[in-house]
Amino acid sequence: MRILRDIASLRAATAEAGPVAFVPTMGNLHEGHLSLVRIARREAAAVTVSIFVNRLQFGAGEDFERYPRTFEQDCALLEREGVELLFAPDERVLYPEPQRYVVKPPPGADELEGRFRPGFFQGVATVVLKLFNCVQPAAAVFGKKDYQQLMVVRDMVRELDLPVRIVPGETVREADGLAMSSRNVYLSAAERAEAPRLRRVLDEVRTGRATPAQALAALQAAGWKPDYVEIRRARDLAAAASGDRELVVLGAARLGATRLIDNLEFRP
Ligand code: AMP
Repeated sequence: MRILRDIASLRAATAEAGPVAFVPTMGNLHEGHLSLVRIARREAAAVTVSIFVNRLQFGAGEDFERYPRTFEQDCALLEREGVELLFAPDERVLYPEPQRYVVKPPPGADELEGRFRPGFFQGVATVVLKLFNCVQPAAAVFGKKDYQQLMVVRDMVRELDLPVRIVPGETVREADGLAMSSRNVYLSAAERAEAPRLRRVLDEVRTGRATPAQALAALQAAGWKPDYVEIRRARDLAAAASGDRELVVLGAARLGATRLIDNLEFRP
């Protein structure tokens, strides 16, 4: 695996490699990330992964400074997957000057995650566009774990005519159902035992055993601070209407100091 630290050498390596499939990450890699790498492998002859903790998508008081950085371990995992190129730029490479030109997502990005993380999707869309311009991939793989992010990126690519095929990857879970996340390392042992409840309450909504309001109450009763549990249309996250055949229930909640998100697609 070649590790590229600057844009010029990345572009030279990419030109040599031919069409690439791209998996952007913030590192602290787990099986969820690796499943995207395996999907990428089917999309193009060479796979490029990026590791970059993007300051633009963190709000004031969020975990940018303490976000887990495990570069050596990440490299070993990617080597084992046979990844050809790793783009791991320093902040000064992607943001050599204040980033004044940004991608402003449409109002839908101010709902759900955007309501509780103002500016989050602007930060995501801006860095993804920059990374696409650096890597110039034929395809890019994004996890459904971050369902709304996948929609924002998919819509940006369509509306800005970016020549990148967006490929979704299913959410990879621990044996007890907890969605894998780099942030799971923040959980204490007691919180880790409690954490699978988020998926369980979403599953109750999915199967019609609970309403979103009941799911919120169940989380609260178990000591969580829920931000939202909502049913939306799976295709575009518009408000669900009767007659919609493909839905998704999305939830976000804080357990102690850790904010977890999850979602489940379903047909009513
Ligand atoms: P992150 O490093 O958290 O920015 O995530 C990088 C990519 O991995 C994003 O496309 C995420 O949606 C995806 N991802 C994170 N966790 C999972 C998971 N448990 N299953 C599948 N994809 C995931």
